[in-house]
Amino acid sequence: MIEKRQFYINGAWVDPVDGRDHHVIDPSTEDPCAVISLGGQADTDAAVSAAKTAFPSWMATPPADRIALVEKLLEIYQSRGDEMAQAMSTEMGAPIDMSRSSQVGAGTWHLQNFIDAAKDFDFDRPLNDHSPTDRIIYEAVGVSALITPWNWPMNQVTLKVGAAAIAGCTMVLKPSEESPLNAMLFAEMMHEAGFPPGVFNLVNGDGAGVGSQLSAHPDVDMVSFTGSSRAGRLISKAAADTLKRVHLELGGKGANLVFADADDKAVKRGVLHMMQNTGQSCNAPSRMLVEAPIYDRVVDEAGEIASKVSVGPASAEGRHIGPVVNATQWQKIQDLIQQGIDEGARLVTGGLGRPEGLNKGFYVRPTVFADVTNDMTIAREEIFGPVLSIMKFDTEEEAVRIANDTVYGLTNYVQSEDGARRNRLARQLRSGMVEMNGIGRSAGSPFGGMKQSGNGREGGVWGIEDFLEVKAVSGWAAE
Ligand code: NAD
Repeated sequence: MIEKRQFYINGAWVDPVDGRDHHVIDPSTEDPCAVISLGGQADTDAAVSAAKTAFPSWMATPPADRIALVEKLLEIYQSRGDEMAQAMSTEMGAPIDMSRSSQVGAGTWHLQNFIDAAKDFDFDRPLNDHSPTDRIIYEAVGVSALITPWNWPMNQVTLKVGAAAIAGCTMVLKPSEESPLNAMLFAEMMHEAGFPPGVFNLVNGDGAGVGSQLSAHPDVDMVSFTGSSRAGRLISKAAADTLKRVHLELGGKGANLVFADADDKAVKRGVLHMMQNTGQSCNAPSRMLVEAPIYDRVVDEAGEIASKVSVGPASAEGRHIGPVVNATQWQKIQDLIQQGIDEGARLVTGGLGRPEGLNKGFYVRPTVFADVTNDMTIAREEIFGPVLSIMKFDTEEEAVRIANDTVYGLTNYVQSEDGARRNRLARQLRSGMVEMNGIGRSAGSPFGGMKQSGNGREGGVWGIEDFLEVKAVSGWAAE
C-alpha cells in the first residue's frame, strides 16, 4: 500500500505535526490503496505562515516570470500525464482511458488557457485615455486557501492553482481526502517547476479539520472552494468573522431542454453526458425536459441508450463507466432511486443494486426515470450518480419555468434547430452557463454558477480576475 503521510510546506515535504492516519479507498475494489495523514491546526498554521511569508515577493514578481513558471509546470504535467491518470483512476474510480483523456486533459486545457489569457492581460493600465493621472492596478488578493472536491480532481486543482499563481497569490491547497494522491503528485510537479518556497503549499485534511481551519484563518485572505452547497454554506459562515473573500463553485441540477426539432443525436448526447464520470459532475444534464410530441419516443430511446452503458472497474481499458467514489455516495444514490420509485416516477431502466456480475465495488446501475415531476426529490436534489430524470413539457414558457424552478443555476442545455429560439432561451435560463446543440464552450470561456451553484468564475481571464484586487490610483506620474 502507498504510504504518503507528508505535507508540502515551504518548498519541502514535511512530517505532520498534528496528523492522524486516513485510508484512501479504491472504489473499484473497496480496498484501501493508500494511507495519508489528515492534518490539524498546527499543520494548517505552518502552511498559512509559509504562504504569508512568501506573498510579498511573489506578488512583486513580474507577471511574465510567473507565467513562465506555469508554462514549465504545464510541460512537466504533460510529461507525467500517465502517472496522473493512474492516481486519479485508482482513488476516485475514473476508468483509465477516460482518466488519461478527460481527467488529465482538463488540467492541460486550463493551464494552457490561463497562460494564453495572462499574456494578453494588462495588470497595470491607465483608467482611460482622458485621465492621465489615474491608474488601475490589478493586484493579487493574497494568501488563498484552495479547497477542492474528488470528482474532477485535476480540473479543479489546475483551475485554482494556475489562476492563483498567475495572479500573484500564494496558496494552501487542501484537496479532497477522498482523492489526495493526484494532488500530491501535482505538488511534486510544482516543486520540479521551481516555484519559490511558500508560494504553493499542500496540507491534507478533512472538511471539519483543515478545511474549517483554513476558512476561519485570520491570515487567509481568500477561499476558493469547489464542492457541495452544504460545505459552501459552512465555509461562508466560517469565513464571515474575518470577512475574507469567498469564491464558491457548488452543485447543480442542470435542465436539458429537448424540443421536437432537436437534431437526431440530441437524446444520445444528453444521456451519455449524464452518465459521463458515472454522473459525478456538477454540470450534469440531470433533468431532461422533453417537448410533448416526441416524449414517448425520447423515453424509449433514452432507456435503450442507458441500458447499453457498460459498467466496470477503473483499471480496465475501454469506454465503460466506473464505480462511484465511496460507500456513502453509493448509499445516497440507492436511497434516491428508491425515493424516485416511491414518489411515483416510472423506472425505465436500471434501478436499485449493483449491475449484474459486479458484487464488490461501488458500482451503480445506469438508471433512467420517466414521468418525473419537478417537485419529486429526484428532480430537486443533486444525485451525483448515473441517474437521469425525464419530464414532459408542452410550451417553451413551461420548459423555462421548470428549468428555472431549482435552487441551483450552473449549466442548462438546449436542443433545437431553431436559432431564434435557442438565443431567446439562452437569455431566459438562470444559470452561469447555457450549452446548446452539443457545442462546447471554447478556450477561455468562464465556468461558474448562479444562485446556490455559487458565485465564482473559473477559467481564462475571469478565473485570473477572481484572484485579483482592483486598485484605483490617482496622482500617477507620467513614466
Ligand atoms: P464536499 O463539499 O463534501 O467536499 C469538497 C471539499 O470540501 C473537500 O476537500 C472537503 O474535505 C471539503 N470540505 C467539506 N466540508 C468542509 C467544511 N465544512 N469546511 C471546509 N471544507 C470542507 O464535496 P464533494 O463530495 O467532494 O464533491 C462533490 C460536490 O462538488 C458536488 O456537489 C458537485 O456538484 C460539486 N462540484 C462543483 C463544481 C463546480 O465547479 N460548480 C465542480 C465539481 C464539483
